[in-house]
Amino acid sequence: HNFEDYALKRELLMGIFEKGFEKPSPIQEESIPLALTGESILARAKNGTGKTAAFLIPALEKLDPAKPYIQALVLVPTRELALQTSQIAKELGAHLNIEVMVTTGGTTLRDDILRFRQPVHILVATPGRVLDLASKGVCNLTHCQTLIMDEADKLLAPEFQDAGVEVLRFLPPNRQILLFSATFPITVKSFKDQFMCTAHEINL
Ligand code: AMP
Repeated sequence: HNFEDYALKRELLMGIFEKGFEKPSPIQEESIPLALTGESILARAKNGTGKTAAFLIPALEKLDPAKPYIQALVLVPTRELALQTSQIAKELGAHLNIEVMVTTGGTTLRDDILRFRQPVHILVATPGRVLDLASKGVCNLTHCQTLIMDEADKLLAPEFQDAGVEVLRFLPPNRQILLFSATFPITVKSFKDQFMCTAHEINL
């Protein structure tokens, strides 16, 4: 396959090619067309497989920049990964006129409140932080159709105290979940059984 086969917006294709991606990697070939149909996905994927673009490309394609609210939430376990992921989203979406925001334990609530006065289309966050913001009414996830969970085995580990599950309460009921994980411990399996029973599984 080629990236041209997915009928992506021209502006998104430009971002993909400017990053130097010529052809989709195997995980991208599996997940992009499925995710574009709105299906939820549970993918076993290690770092280095191209998983970041595998979830960002469909999220970017479905996003409407004219709507000034959060349309995709990317949950990641660390600030470092949040910064990397937001950087890739900005690069892939360079021609899409979208706003990407990062919020993790390292930013102040005051700064976040100010930032949310401007439109945010993609929010990249750690679970506890976004749960805190959503429950205080600082960020609105009511129209967020896509939830991405990267390194889900870590997101669902005990130190996050179920924040990854609780954040679901703030999303619309028909949300799509794109879950990526290197391993499938019991926590990920039970999350799948509870919240993603119709999801497609991708194993590479
Ligand atoms: P990731 O697994 O998302 O951490 O990506 C691993 C590396 O592969 C990153 O440096 C990406 O920029 C690169 N990459 C992702 N998709 C492609 C692609 N389709 N073609 C070439 N490189 C890619």
